[in-house]
Amino acid sequence: MKRAAALLLALLLLASAGCAAPKTLRQQTIFAMNTVMDLRIYASDDSLLQEMTRLLSELDHELSATDAGSALYALNQTGQAENADLAQIVSRASAISDETGGALDISLYNASLAWGFPTGEHRVPDEAELAALRRTIGLDKVAVSGDVVTLSDGVKLDFGAVAKGLAADLCREKMENAGVSGILSLGASIQTVGTKPDGSDWSIGVQDPEDPSNIKLTLRLKGSKAVVTSGDYQRFFEQDGVRYCHILDPETLAPVQSDYRSVTIVADSGFLADGLSTALYVMGFEAGVSLWRTSGGFEAVWIADDGSVSVTEGLAPLVSGAEAEVIQR
Ligand code: ADP
Ligand code: MG
Repeated sequence: MKRAAALLLALLLLASAGCAAPKTLRQQTIFAMNTVMDLRIYASDDSLLQEMTRLLSELDHELSATDAGSALYALNQTGQAENADLAQIVSRASAISDETGGALDISLYNASLAWGFPTGEHRVPDEAELAALRRTIGLDKVAVSGDVVTLSDGVKLDFGAVAKGLAADLCREKMENAGVSGILSLGASIQTVGTKPDGSDWSIGVQDPEDPSNIKLTLRLKGSKAVVTSGDYQRFFEQDGVRYCHILDPETLAPVQSDYRSVTIVADSGFLADGLSTALYVMGFEAGVSLWRTSGGFEAVWIADDGSVSVTEGLAPLVSGAEAEVIQR
């Protein structure tokens, strides 16, 4: 009996020691959604890291337009799917599209295919080809009713502009539920969660589009924030001295040609930040600034092709490493 009690006590001590195990930095690098992802969390074991790794590969599989086994691929092939996740993504992306005058358009996958971005077989389609594709593009050809998404006229969807932001939101929720802090770099979508164990700010580097191995400026942030960058230097090809980037202007169905190299959005939601980063890159500087003035809910950094930096006033005190023009409300 005494031995049993001693054993029980020993087990209890072990269990409580387990609970109180110190939260240390745990890191994992994976490849999903076509990008290298780096997960760093302060946790007492690796279980959450493993759970997030599983989640990210599931999302990759479900939301990929190129993966022949994905739910999105099936929707694009058949024109209809009953799937709550897909329906929700379409609705949320459509709302951002409305807010940005159509600059975010998840229905232009046929145009991306024509430019060869999904396959890597890059080419420059002519005007006539793009004009013909217009009949197969447009959110007016996408309907959501409950959990059912219906596509007409051969429209195909592409979640590339929002998927990593959505993934960041879902990981953040898991971390918050577990009381775990950390920083996730899902390619150009960065998510901070909670507070670092030492209480210091999160420090996020915004890449120099001129030389992406360098940091152009640093943002110091507190708590949970999504920081997402879209630009012409991440995925592009060059032909006859012209750079064609992977972000298409829904009006022309051609790659955006801009005086700006990148725009970075800081917001509470990864989905919103990701959707807006793509949309604001399409809209250009002036229209992006007026959207910021009228709608709020996000802050932004623009880097122009001459290297100059503009930031909305909410970020001004948080920027270091570069001179920046501050945009007032
Ligand atoms: P990244 O995927 O490199 O983080 P973005 O979030 O800006 O960059 O998303 C760009 C991707 O979104 C493209 O690779 C393409 O799949 C898709 N896309 C391109 N143009 C648009 C657009 N105007 N609206 C919505 N999606 C777009
Ligand atoms: Mg985006």
